[in-house]
Amino acid sequence: MQATIKNTVRFDGVGLHSGRPVRMVISPASAGYGIWFKRTDIRFGDAMVPARWDAVDRSPLCTRIRNAAGVEVSTIEHVMAALAGCGIHNALIEIDGPEVPILDGSAAPFVDAILGRGIRRLDTPVMAIKVDKTVTVETDSGWARLSPADTFTMSFHIDFTDAAIGSQDKRLVLSNGTFVRELCDSRTFCRQADVDAMRANGLALGGTLENAVVVDGDKVLSPGGLRHSDEPVRHKMLDALGDLALAGAPILGHYTGHRAGHSMTNMLLHALFNTPGALRLVEVDGADAARLPGVGVVPQDMPAVA
Ligand SMILES: [Zn+2]
Repeated sequence: MQATIKNTVRFDGVGLHSGRPVRMVISPASAGYGIWFKRTDIRFGDAMVPARWDAVDRSPLCTRIRNAAGVEVSTIEHVMAALAGCGIHNALIEIDGPEVPILDGSAAPFVDAILGRGIRRLDTPVMAIKVDKTVTVETDSGWARLSPADTFTMSFHIDFTDAAIGSQDKRLVLSNGTFVRELCDSRTFCRQADVDAMRANGLALGGTLENAVVVDGDKVLSPGGLRHSDEPVRHKMLDALGDLALAGAPILGHYTGHRAGHSMTNMLLHALFNTPGALRLVEVDGADAARLPGVGVVPQDMPAVA
């Protein structure tokens, strides 16, 4: 059955790129509502922005959505991953600025709060997107693919010249709380050289050594080091789950990302929806439900976050 959050939950923080303070409130919503953002600071005109693949304004550094009136919300990927990973299909997210708070740079604070409030089952079945045909997108920097699989599975490869990251591969079957146990606490990461370039362009102004893993060559500059030896690839998988959640329904298929990022995962969803015969909407039965990320998640799945 579809689910929503049991009670309203509030987050106060700053935007990673803007550095500005922001307050965000997630509220329950009815079956079939989906996930919508509402910009509470927009007094006139349409303040509602759908968390959907076709509302994405492609951006290399984060996922940004925009409505027809030009109202935007950016850096939505971590809260979207938290909702998908907890099996929340319907919610209203009110926010008083253009960027979701970065908090600790992972999805753990969102997951912790959502599981703390509890999940309410609704009386309408979940529809899932079953991948029937492989779709691939490719750019100069990498590729991404969705192919048929019975269980939602994710494989990811990254390679960076910085020895502190290097080459990392991971494959996970994301069912029954795996996202919460394995991925949700992995933080965003970047290279010191990129921080300098982003700051020069007025970006990453809210970034700190606490809410991002910063590396320089073979050194991890963030105090306390990494939460997992392969935290960067885990974070890329977290991002991909958040970006795939914009499909509007859970996916039964195998996602592979090879040096993929936000834009590429969004291009992949465009390819999926625009390729005849690539997908089928199926009503999720008990056996399929066990193959989706959120079913069976319990607060005890939360890792002990540093
Ligand atoms: Zn991220």
